[in-house]
Amino acid sequence: MSEFNDKQREILTAVCDTVVPPLACDPDPDGFFARKASDLWVPQVVEYLMAGMPDDQRAGLLAVLEAFGEQDFVRTSPGTREQLMHKVAQTSSAAATGLEVLTTLTLFLFYGLADERGRNPNWEMLGYPGPVSPAPHLERPLHPYTPRGDTTLDADVCVIGSGAGGSVMAGVLSERGLSVVVLEAGGYFDDADFDQLEISAYQNLYWRGGPTSTAEMNVSVLAGSCLGGGTVVNWANSLRTTQWVREQWERAYGLEGLAGADFDRHLDAVLRRLGVTDRCSELNGPQQRMKGGADELGWSFKTVQSNIDERRYSFETAGYTGFGDQTGAKQSAVKTYLQDAYDRGATLVTRCWAQRIVVRRNHAKGVEAIWSDPGAGRSGRITVKAPQVVVACGALESAALLLRSGIGGPAVGDYLRLHPCTATVGFYTDDLEGWKGAPQAGIVDEFENTEQGHGFLIESPQYTTALAAAALPHADGASHKRVMSNFRHGAAVIALLRDRGHGRVKIDRAGAAVPSYSLTDDLDLRNARKGIDAQVRLHEAAGAQQILAAAAGPLSWRRGEDIDAFIAGTRRIPLGAQGWKLFSAHQMGSCRMGTDQRTSVANPWGELHDVSGAWIGDGSAFPTASGTNPMITIMALAHRNAQAVAAAAPSTAATTAPQSL
Ligand SMILES: Cc1cc2nc3c(=O)[nH]c(=O)nc-3n(C[C@H](O)[C@H](O)[C@H](O)COP(=O)(O)OP(=O)(O)OC[C@H]3O[C@@H](n4cnc5c(N)ncnc54)[C@H](O)[C@@H]3O)c2cc1C
Repeated sequence: MSEFNDKQREILTAVCDTVVPPLACDPDPDGFFARKASDLWVPQVVEYLMAGMPDDQRAGLLAVLEAFGEQDFVRTSPGTREQLMHKVAQTSSAAATGLEVLTTLTLFLFYGLADERGRNPNWEMLGYPGPVSPAPHLERPLHPYTPRGDTTLDADVCVIGSGAGGSVMAGVLSERGLSVVVLEAGGYFDDADFDQLEISAYQNLYWRGGPTSTAEMNVSVLAGSCLGGGTVVNWANSLRTTQWVREQWERAYGLEGLAGADFDRHLDAVLRRLGVTDRCSELNGPQQRMKGGADELGWSFKTVQSNIDERRYSFETAGYTGFGDQTGAKQSAVKTYLQDAYDRGATLVTRCWAQRIVVRRNHAKGVEAIWSDPGAGRSGRITVKAPQVVVACGALESAALLLRSGIGGPAVGDYLRLHPCTATVGFYTDDLEGWKGAPQAGIVDEFENTEQGHGFLIESPQYTTALAAAALPHADGASHKRVMSNFRHGAAVIALLRDRGHGRVKIDRAGAAVPSYSLTDDLDLRNARKGIDAQVRLHEAAGAQQILAAAAGPLSWRRGEDIDAFIAGTRRIPLGAQGWKLFSAHQMGSCRMGTDQRTSVANPWGELHDVSGAWIGDGSAFPTASGTNPMITIMALAHRNAQAVAAAAPSTAATTAPQSL
């Protein structure tokens, strides 16, 4: 891969400095307005990130820079540069997409990068404190196994992926006396490793290093990738599965026991183990506005329960939970089910990437994987021989693993549900300090079931500088900067859609997951629009002075202006690429359970239709979208299906003692 030449570098710097330009503003005590992107090394980091992109994506961005080179972009005035950027964006959808990527990256880095002291000079103006407490000096309680070379392990069960589903499988199966090996692609990070910084959290704890677009750029996807998976970074909201979804799954997909007391027992067991409580649901500033707006409109608002330990909970630090919780209050999979499994002798292997499931005569025989130890610069192969294999890599990667293994039947990868979210930000007169408190202590559930069991929840996301900057509309550099200067007064809300339509996961030639998703189902389109309308009405009723749509285009409402005209304007913007930004933190359904082998991958207990001994143990097993934040449903289903795995896997008293080859 060739390095940038000087000309490309010069153009990239000019593009970044057009996205975040220096502005004359008096007073400007912290130099916020005068600061441009290149003052914070943003172009260098964009160049570095581009070097790691897939070839075709990188080539697309270079083509955009090339187009600017032909226009003598670097030597023109700032105003002309902005016009040129708009002109280039109109030449083709590839150019528009490329420019959107460069703009998003620039904003993300300008407001998210931290220096060696963990500070970003822009945060002063934003009122954002950055890290508020140092990571504690604590021993890590788990000791993952580090192979020395190519290695073979034997186990009764190999669990691939250690997130919400995989951890419960490992915990329950080890409790049944089975020997368990857990393979996890990400690293092990614990309280002492969490620095409360957004970008380092994305790099260490998230799938593909943070927000990642689906193939058509319609949805920005966030998923955890570390020991504990999504449970380490999620926002701790712990919702039970709704009754209508349970009934649908039992009736239409054959998941016996789902609608009644049997599944209640699994839900209760999980909630108990996670210590789920309503005693850490103090509403922060934005959530108080949400509640105020809902009360004003007569809409249902409820505080939610969370898996946070009251004894360690602190309002001041709970807001950083998406970057890993250094207080240890959040009862993630690492603190609960993985700890249980480890205490019972399970072997945890981190930075271990499962490549394929080994199958002989339609029965699972084990897993082939690659491990690495970046610190020591070592890597090797690992083979786990196991008659039962649980696939729990999250809905993006579980499907990819089955596709690489050539198993699972025609439905593998299909029926991917994302709970796509639209977002708006209301700006209020008071300082809301949205970065404090649990990110999702309360929700508006008024529209949870508008039609046929589908609808949307209105929730608040974690209020972070980099993601907010990248999500807010960027019509021009000056207006975006002015909006960001008001950051502390902002309350972001999202409408989370229970999607009926679906996308798909495929793999590319290298076997990597390629998710694609477009919002086209008529019910989904209706509910997505209703979700946007409701967010706007909520902000207005809560007293917002200004409302901004997280969408392309300068769509903004100010108090006194016509709110209906604003809502009408939001409806003209398409949902997806170059329109409303769609976000997903919930991936489900790509290897779903059901009775029909043409439309499902696994039977109603999670075992593959075409391979015995191979099980789906994560969110990809959902027959449809859950509609509620899925962690508890994933864990309860894993708790239920683990009984079936245990029944199929009488302990062979196999040893997990490694044999280095
Ligand atoms: C920012 C954020 C906030 C959220 N907030 C909430 C919330 O408040 N409440 C809620 O209910 N839900 C929330 N969620 C969603 C919830 O965390 C996920 O739905 C859940 O963790 C998914 O569980 P899973 O078992 O399907 O996969 P994951 O938890 O994603 O675990 C999959 C694991 O498999 C590993 N893996 C992938 N491929 C391989 C491979 N080939 N080999 C080995 N390992 C592999 C991954 O690294 C990952 O660690 C949130 C998610 C995010 C990202």
